[in-house]
Amino acid sequence: MITGTTKLLGVIGHPIAHSLSPVLHNAAIAHLGLDYVYLPLPVSPDQLQQAIAGFEAIDLQGFSVTIPHKQAIVPLLQEISPAAKAIGAVNTVARTDSGWFGTNTDAIGFLAPLRELDRSKQRAVILGNGGAARAVVAGCQELGCTEIQVVGRDRAKLEAFRTSWPNDLPLTVHTWSDLPTLLPSADLLVNTTPIGMHPDIDRSPLEALDRLSATAIVYDLIYTPRPTKLLQQAQARGLEAIDGLEMLVQQGAAALELWLKQPVPVAVMRQALEAALAKH
Ligand code: NAP
Repeated sequence: MITGTTKLLGVIGHPIAHSLSPVLHNAAIAHLGLDYVYLPLPVSPDQLQQAIAGFEAIDLQGFSVTIPHKQAIVPLLQEISPAAKAIGAVNTVARTDSGWFGTNTDAIGFLAPLRELDRSKQRAVILGNGGAARAVVAGCQELGCTEIQVVGRDRAKLEAFRTSWPNDLPLTVHTWSDLPTLLPSADLLVNTTPIGMHPDIDRSPLEALDRLSATAIVYDLIYTPRPTKLLQQAQARGLEAIDGLEMLVQQGAAALELWLKQPVPVAVMRQALEAALAKH
């Protein structure tokens, strides 16, 4: 029940109507019986600064950040975590005594389903070089990958991507034509492109996965549909296949933990998200 004492959380984005974050967070808040509510907050790019000032005025406790604000918000915050600095984007903002603190929980989310897997999975091939690819590279760095190979279609963007990371990171960039030589030694293949996402469910970023080794893991960040065409191809070959749902759940759980300063019911959040996706 929302009362006069209810504390406010939310998500800013433009558009925001299709965000699953309110479902994810309000399920956990209800389960914990806390006096909080998590709201969708539509903020257009030209209103970002005013919105942040307003959040301070109404004592918003924290908020998630989604497209198109993940980078634009950085200069408006008082403190940025090392994770957000490395990724170059903020997806979570918390209120602290010294102002707004921005961090990025996407790499935590990405890593969650990989934690239980064999740590010798060390050669990663990442398809795409956009925002999500940055969180995946940060995750692979934390995983201790010995090779991180990022594949993109635009040479200038690939070069900019490479130079935005420390020189000593074992990161190389490639165009799609290099894939036949990259795949045979890949332990982990991650799709961070939107190829195969609803409604284009019959598309896959790769025609075939026969060049991958039998022990490779195929990870698709997409969570609609489940499984994607790429993951169906992986399953048909008997490969380990991971979809993007757990990443979404776990990046949200990490954010909620930061705001509430207590453990959160991850299973409740997962269940709420699965139920919401089933209605789509
Ligand atoms: P983004 O910043 O727009 O990056 C998309 C990347 O894919 C870019 O490098 C883009 O290349 C490439 N790409 C797009 N269409 C392509 C095509 N037809 N052929 C080859 N490359 C193509 O988007 P994002 O924020 O990284 O998100 C990417 C995907 O990850 C989305 O499907 C999103 O739903 C998913 N995601 C999932 C989670 C999760 O929690 N599970 C979190 C974040 C994102 P150019 O740069 O050359 O255009």
